[in-house]
Amino acid sequence: KKSLSIKNIKISPSVTLAITAKAKKMKSDGEDVISFGAGEPDFKTPEHIRNAAIDVIQNGNIGYTAASGLSQLKEAICEKFKNDNDLEYTSENIVVSNGAKHSLFNALQAICNPGDEVIIPTPYWVSYPELVKLADAVPVFVEALEEYGFKYTRENLLKAVSKKTKAIILNSPNNPTGAVYTESELREIADIAVNNNIYIISDEIYEKLIYEGKHISIASFNEKIKDLTIVINGVSKGYAMTGWRIGYSAANKEITKIMTNIQSHATSNPNTIAQYAAIAALKGDQEVVNDMVKAFDERRKYMVEKINNISNLSCKEPKGAFYVMVNISKIIGKEFDGIKIKNSMDFADYLLEKVKVAVVPGIGFGVENYIRLSYATSIENIKEGLKRIERAINI
Ligand code: PLP
Repeated sequence: KKSLSIKNIKISPSVTLAITAKAKKMKSDGEDVISFGAGEPDFKTPEHIRNAAIDVIQNGNIGYTAASGLSQLKEAICEKFKNDNDLEYTSENIVVSNGAKHSLFNALQAICNPGDEVIIPTPYWVSYPELVKLADAVPVFVEALEEYGFKYTRENLLKAVSKKTKAIILNSPNNPTGAVYTESELREIADIAVNNNIYIISDEIYEKLIYEGKHISIASFNEKIKDLTIVINGVSKGYAMTGWRIGYSAANKEITKIMTNIQSHATSNPNTIAQYAAIAALKGDQEVVNDMVKAFDERRKYMVEKINNISNLSCKEPKGAFYVMVNISKIIGKEFDGIKIKNSMDFADYLLEKVKVAVVPGIGFGVENYIRLSYATSIENIKEGLKRIERAINI
């Protein structure tokens, strides 16, 4: 009898899952847990967007759309690219997917062959290495250290480039660090991509959540880099629509066709109602975004100042997204209340046990000396949570 094997690519479970599950359990048991774990805005989806979806439901025409998305939505996306990023695309460059994560999956499936290398910055968003592995490709990590502003440097990137490099993943504004690349830094990366014929997967999902300056898409510099770039974006973070599951990509026509074919067999079109809601988000009043950005900015400033006033903790000011990477290198190796903190997971565990504060350990993003705090939670929670953290390390 033949042996029955399973897929031999090892996809890691999320190391952050254990701690967030524990925090959730404590909360549902009635414990007063403060969570800095959120990866989504704490705001409701704006009313005009919800109403657009209600209208579709009332109307009742909720059939399949084209696998790559509604043509009206693709037109709205092209308009957005023109207005926000000075990028000219047509519908043939766009695929609408079930969230930006799905767009990333499609993009990697479309371009990777077995053994291809894909460069990922560390700290990285948890799903990048696993999405690369799922595409039979090999993640190659480049340290984007705090001393480099948590960004790629030209030298480090060039060191990682090989004949097998298929793509570089770029994420600005960045999760988990909040780093935002400047125009000249992006131009350096674009030059490396063009000179070495490497695709750029530019994850711009946090585009709208930026606190200084303006977001620049790497694809916008010239036709060569535009042709090599797959821009990933969506409505999840900017419009508080994480649960609606709408993301999108813009790429050259050849790649777009392959991504469309992959999606047509895997999922067909993303939810039709959510697609109409996304049109309302992109074409409607953008003041709702500005209001959220204002609230995030206040919390960001408070958090950064407070953290840097707590002894043994420090952080750089994030320029975008809604996360702060807190440097805990002075905590590692110390003992609190008889508990030795050997790594970021120990510290996250300790904070949850001791003062009921949930944070994400850096190891989830491939780095040990950090924890990530999300400020997608109320200022009251932030104040109380930071007070508790301070108490926990002043025992
Ligand atoms: N890319 C980054 C960097 C993210 O942080 C996230 C969500 O956490 C995503 C992509 C996925 O977004 P979506 O919810 O649209 O799939």
